[in-house]
Amino acid sequence: MPPSELEQFVVGLGQPRFRAKQVQEWLYRGAPDFSVMKNLPESLRRDLGRAAQTLPCTIEQKLESLDRQTTKFLLRTTDTNQQHDIIETVLMRTSYGNSVCVSSQAGCAMGCKFCASTLLGLKRNLTANEMLAQVLAAQWELRTRLAPHDAHKVRANGDPNNNDVSHIVVMGTGEPLQNTENLRGFLGTANAKLGISWRRMTVSTCGIVPGINELTEWARPVNLAISLHAPNDELRGELMPINKRYPIADVLDAAFAHSERTGRQLMIEYILLDFPTPNRGTGGGNYAPEHAEQLSALLKDKSVMVNLIPWNAVAERGDLSAPSNNAVHRFQDILKENGIHTRIRRERGADIGSACGQLRLNPQPL
Ligand code: SAH
Repeated sequence: MPPSELEQFVVGLGQPRFRAKQVQEWLYRGAPDFSVMKNLPESLRRDLGRAAQTLPCTIEQKLESLDRQTTKFLLRTTDTNQQHDIIETVLMRTSYGNSVCVSSQAGCAMGCKFCASTLLGLKRNLTANEMLAQVLAAQWELRTRLAPHDAHKVRANGDPNNNDVSHIVVMGTGEPLQNTENLRGFLGTANAKLGISWRRMTVSTCGIVPGINELTEWARPVNLAISLHAPNDELRGELMPINKRYPIADVLDAAFAHSERTGRQLMIEYILLDFPTPNRGTGGGNYAPEHAEQLSALLKDKSVMVNLIPWNAVAERGDLSAPSNNAVHRFQDILKENGIHTRIRRERGADIGSACGQLRLNPQPL
């Protein structure tokens, strides 16, 4: 509810206006229900609990990784036809802050061959509030459940806001640039109400060119990440059907324009992956030395960072596999020799199915 509506609602329950403000403060802290709103009279908490809920979804399950740095939330959503779905969100406690990986759609229509998110197809777009709720669920978890030794670790790295979400990556299930209006609404609220800086937000896309252009025109200094995964159209077309609509040259042109307009460095995501049948001229993978050379040529002299992601296991994609560590480093070395800034992405929470490409619609609760 926008503030004015919330005020009317609270007044309608026979309460003074200022109570609305108190309720709203709790909402933006991520309160899972009204019982925790201790500065409200008990009768009001009860009335609110009967009439409303604090988030547009409920927390069905929380899974904690063995290293205790990653938490996955299974959130139960309800659509306009009262149909329920489970969507997934991941909170990562890192040395640079607390990052939430947000899903932008229930399911995904993109059909990328290597990804779990697309297995059930697209159910629907998530609303701005459903995206915000994912951040709020993580925020509440951090403030109420963060183990003391973890808190100490984050503080030691100099982040005074160790109990706050500091970064948002829209890298969960779905294609955010197919849902741009809600995406902008969500990021705008996260900036205005949660105080998360634009520069600490990253939107990842498989390469929807009109959506990239829309972000560029929006002109907020959010980071853009492109899921590239192959350095030529033939290979990319086999892995990612969207490439037939928007080929590499068009995607990169749009992405470079975003980077120039916003002054933000472009992130290129590149999975390293083995596939079964040797594809014409590709030798069954996307990480041969010639691929590294082709990738370097595409990105030459641009402000980019290549994030290399060894493929994470997806049960239904048993025909795929990740290359050896050696192969990953060999690929990275060629990029480096060509002057391309590159990092290998640390996999987070593979034991709870929360690593890149493992998030899905309607998972079986454990
Ligand atoms: N649809 C958007 C947002 C998803 S981001 C996009 O495509 O960018 C999730 C990232 O993880 C993408 O780069 C995606 O290509 C990558 N990914 C998908 N499956 C993966 C897997 N099994 N292992 C590693 N990364 C994967």
